[in-house]
Amino acid sequence: FAGPCRFFYAAQSIDQLPPVTEVPEVALCGRSNVGKSSLMNALTGQKALARVSHTPGRTRQLNFFDLAEGKLTLVDMPGYGYAQASKAVKADWQGLMFDFLRGRPSLRRVLLLMDCRVETKPADRAAMQLLGEAAVAYQFVLTKADSVKPAQREKRIEEVQALARKQTAAHPLVIVTSSETGEGIPELRAEIAAMAAA
Ligand code: GDP
Repeated sequence: FAGPCRFFYAAQSIDQLPPVTEVPEVALCGRSNVGKSSLMNALTGQKALARVSHTPGRTRQLNFFDLAEGKLTLVDMPGYGYAQASKAVKADWQGLMFDFLRGRPSLRRVLLLMDCRVETKPADRAAMQLLGEAAVAYQFVLTKADSVKPAQREKRIEEVQALARKQTAAHPLVIVTSSETGEGIPELRAEIAAMAAA
């Protein structure tokens, strides 16, 4: 990407969203602990980004980052499926996510992160359902590919590919990444860069 990745906006509710502009947006979402912060750091080569997203109290907000000098916006969505979260917090998350997804014409694609080590959880299926209902194009990105044995890795990839084939809103290409080894990072970067404004 041209230029640094710069945090520029946080929204805790739907009425706080930055105005829709011509700038395309790509959002990242996934279960908490899926490796989203690490992936953002690996994508941008900037360590400080994780701090923004991991600041306590900031976890339930949408964080907006300027990427590629105003040609693309990266939206970091709050992690879902946190076991300790109360029902009210979970409902809040769904509400914010759905409102955002449904009413955001500048949102080009959501990257739905899935952990290679963890099977698909009900919270992942709930997120897929929200994305489908909101008719937002999304793409699966597997994380932590380095952390599993080859057989488990292949099984997980096939499982997620099967999910992608079944969902009309899902992109058929599943990207396999590791923030540790850098596997898949150039491919993911290229997918994202292809959505930037000309
Ligand atoms: P987030 O909660 O989704 O932002 O997840 P983090 O990026 O904070 O990562 C959660 C945990 O997974 C941390 O302990 C990371 O060190 C670990 N992790 C993240 N990415 C990778 C990866 O690519 N490989 C391995 N082995 N561990 C990872």
